[in-house]
Amino acid sequence: MPCIDVHITDIYYALMPELPEVETVCLAMKKTLPGKRITSISTSGKRLREPIDEIRLNKLINDKFIEVKRRAKYLFLHLASGTTLLIHLGMSGNLLLRKSREKHDHVIFHLGQERPLVFNDPRRFGMVLVLEKNEIHTCSYLVNLGVEPLTPKLNKRYLMKKCHGTNTPIKNLIMNNKVIVGIGNIYANESLFQAKIHPKTPARHLNPAEITILTRAIKNVLSKAVKKGGTTINDYLGSGEGGRFQQKLSVYGRNGQACGKCSGTIVNTRMAGRSTFYCPLCQRPNKSASAEK
Ligand SMILES: [Zn+2]
Repeated sequence: MPCIDVHITDIYYALMPELPEVETVCLAMKKTLPGKRITSISTSGKRLREPIDEIRLNKLINDKFIEVKRRAKYLFLHLASGTTLLIHLGMSGNLLLRKSREKHDHVIFHLGQERPLVFNDPRRFGMVLVLEKNEIHTCSYLVNLGVEPLTPKLNKRYLMKKCHGTNTPIKNLIMNNKVIVGIGNIYANESLFQAKIHPKTPARHLNPAEITILTRAIKNVLSKAVKKGGTTINDYLGSGEGGRFQQKLSVYGRNGQACGKCSGTIVNTRMAGRSTFYCPLCQRPNKSASAEK
């Protein structure tokens, strides 16, 4: 009996914006938002992951965007008053500049004569929070975030420390936001394939050389995707729909297909409820990995 390769939840996750896409949106907004003044705000009135605080939101009228930043998959739109708009794209959210109105536009920041800033989100798992200056450090979504994978903070030493003494399978460890932020299922699968590490390997069994290779693979896979996203920036600035970019994937979603590096066939297993794709020849389990669930 053929196994089901991708479960329905994984289809949503596969569409979910991952770190490279959030970074792309961030770069697009950095290019254009600073200096723009909010002239009015309209909302759909529908609840997102958190209800939209209309009172706080309306206080932003006449405020001016001064800076855009990203941390993990959160976007920070800093305003001149010291207030910050904290935005998460959830599973299907998008933040872009466009004049036309569309279904699932939930928050629209009108910017005078400029194209409005639109938060669109069909599945409504996204979030638009208004944070006062002193609330950023205590916001429950932001405390305990792990290191950024594309900064020097993710390095061999850090990952060795996190892997030390734990039987957690390496795939689950690198997907843990408290360890490293922004590595979703797609990039965890792809990084482990590139590093030739079996996803179920207990973290403590990785040797220093493997940890070095894995650290490099994570950075490599993510930065390639960010670069790819760079070509779609204009979509977010009003010249398109801010569509998702297609990524070239080696193992994710390729169950049953030939491995691009050897004569093996990509297989799929479940780990922590998520589809896990790997090449059993390139990513041989080490002696204890098979004991892990
Ligand atoms: Zn292979």
